[in-house]
Amino acid sequence: MAFLDWSDHNVGRPLPCRLCGIPAMLRDEKNRPCHMTCAHAQADGLIGGDDQGDALAVVVQMPTAPVIDLHTRRRIA
Ligand SMILES: [Zn+2]
Repeated sequence: MAFLDWSDHNVGRPLPCRLCGIPAMLRDEKNRPCHMTCAHAQADGLIGGDDQGDALAVVVQMPTAPVIDLHTRRRIA
């Protein structure tokens, strides 16, 4: 995980995060609204540029647990 120094960043009224679009109070180094977790995910290469919605795509791509029939013990989904 990348280390980002947020000690001198500003906080303001909630505005859409530049990466995920969900309201964020924290501002990045260019004073744009951005969640700390979204900025770290971008620094780690997990999400792309400033297109809103990229951070949500990471969540959507999470694997789902298999569904097992308890009687037959076979995977059904
Ligand atoms: Zn965000």
